Order: sequence, then structure tokens, then C-alpha cells
Amino acid sequence: MYLRTLLLTISLLAPGCGERGAQPDQSARPATAPSPAPSPAAAGMATGFNGERAFEDVKTQVGFGPRPAGSPALEKTRAWMIKTLRDLGITVRIDEFNPVTPNGRVRMKNIIAEFPGEKPEAIIIASHYDTKFYKEFRFVGANDGASSTAVLLELARVLATQKTPRKQTLQLVFFDGEEAFCAEWNDCLNGKDNTYGSRHMAEQLVAKKETDRVRAMILLDMVGDSDLRIRREENSSPWLVEAIWSTAGEIGYRDHFANALHFITDDHMPFLQAGIPAVDIIDFDYGPGSAYWHTAEDTIDKISPRSLQIVGDVVLRSLPRIEAFIR
Ligand SMILES: [Zn+2]
Repeated sequence: MYLRTLLLTISLLAPGCGERGAQPDQSARPATAPSPAPSPAAAGMATGFNGERAFEDVKTQVGFGPRPAGSPALEKTRAWMIKTLRDLGITVRIDEFNPVTPNGRVRMKNIIAEFPGEKPEAIIIASHYDTKFYKEFRFVGANDGASSTAVLLELARVLATQKTPRKQTLQLVFFDGEEAFCAEWNDCLNGKDNTYGSRHMAEQLVAKKETDRVRAMILLDMVGDSDLRIRREENSSPWLVEAIWSTAGEIGYRDHFANALHFITDDHMPFLQAGIPAVDIIDFDYGPGSAYWHTAEDTIDKISPRSLQIVGDVVLRSLPRIEAFIR
């Protein structure tokens, strides 16, 4: 995979949140300004998802400061997230584990919000909620960590109000420890200094022989950039990519869910390796040449409520199609 990435890569290959590579942009932005997306009513998009409310949740997380795994700030963030979810009447499970890291053992916690269905089969929608640690500068991860976590919290609000009984179980999973402790993704622990939370969950599913029960895993990461343009991720399961990108096109978001391709190694990989269909919805084009990624520039002013709205709408509108596919 890595070799193939290198062969196909033109310019964008940045290590950190994984090996990243991009093919030349084949979908091409329109020469003119993209037409405005249809109003929610026009597109029949009354999903109930509120991008402004999600944006407030990005601000709250950024307000806790840098939030690396094992830090007091992440503990505070977690307490706020759990309270937010439980106040909605949602069943929340906390899965604690103590992996070996380059900094010794670090206590981490995955947070799992569950919406039970009639059947045991489950769909997971996931995000990481930790931020990368830098001693050289203050990294608050408005996009990388907070944006996708905020979308999941707003999805929880919408799902909590849905009265129709669910067929499949739905889990919103917030991973701890996605970010590497060392500077780069593959610097330490033979490439295992990353994705601690997602690897832990996938290992648990394998150990309990429950991988067949999880029919789809939808990962969100870096979804708040006001210049939102999400490429199709090539490690991801093709049918999941198709379900989501075709839905986005149908509801007027083709400019934001582009046909260009990229390879991203992220929290979806342990699930794919366990045989679980998975997709990564990630906009890695963050600033010129991804200049805002893993820098002090990843701040709230780069995030827009509208981008959070688009991603929330697309996920909610894709779910029936995904549920129908796995029924
Ligand atoms: Zn990151």
C-alpha cells in the first residue's frame, strides 16, 4: 500500500496522522464559483442537524486547550462530552485501556454512545477526540480532533430525537489516542505509535468474535474546514464510498464531496484489517499545501458551521442507503 502510494503521489505525501498521498485532481473545480447549495428545504434535507450548534461544540473543545491523550484537559473534555450525551438520555459506555506508548503506559478511554436497534448488527460512526501534543507551540486541533467530534455530538442530538425504531444498532464512537506521541506517525513502536483507540476497539471485536456484527464503520476526521472539499479515500470500502458520495451529489454537495482520490491511513484501518467495511471522510486539503494540518494554524477561524452542516447532512442522508445495503 505504502509503495503504491508513493508511485501514485504527485506532491502531497505528509506523514503524521498516517501516510497520506493524493492523486492528481481529476474532478477539477469549476472555473466559475461553485453554485450555492440548494436550501435545505429545496433539497429535501430537513435532517435536523444544526451546523451552528455543532460549531459551538468545536469552540467548547478548543476552549479546553490542547487535549493530548492522558492530559487533564482531555479528561475535562471527556467529562463534558459524556455529560452532553447522557443529558440527551443516551446510553454511554466508557472503555478504558492502558496501552504502552513512547511515554510509557497512558490511560485512555474510548467513549461509546449507543442507539440500540431491533437487530444486533451495528453501524459505527466514529471520530477521534484527542489532539496531537506539541511542546513547541500551542496546538488546539479545531479541525483535527474537534470538528469531527462536534459533528458526532450533533448527530447524537438528532438521533436522540428520532422516534422510529431502528433496525440496526448505531454506535457513535469517540476514539482516544489517535495521534502519535512521537513527532511522526511511524517514528516509534514499529509504526504502532498511533490509532491507539481504534486498534483497541478492533482488537476487542476480534477477540470477542464480533467482527461480523459490525457491518459498517464510518470515520469522520478533519471535516470543519471552511473550504470543504473531501476526496474519495482509496483504502476505504468502495460500496461505502459510493453510498456516501452519491448521496452527497444528489443533495447538491458534489463540489464538497469530490471525485478526486487520496490515500489516508487513519482510524478506519484497524477495522478494515479486521474485515469490517469502513470509510474515511476526511478533508486533508487544509490550507495551502495542507499548511494548517498539525500546526498552530489549526484554529477556530478556519472552521465554518456550514461545513459541519454539510457533513452532518450527508452522513444522516446516507444512513438509510447504508442500512438498506447491509440488511
Ligand atoms: Zn492529526
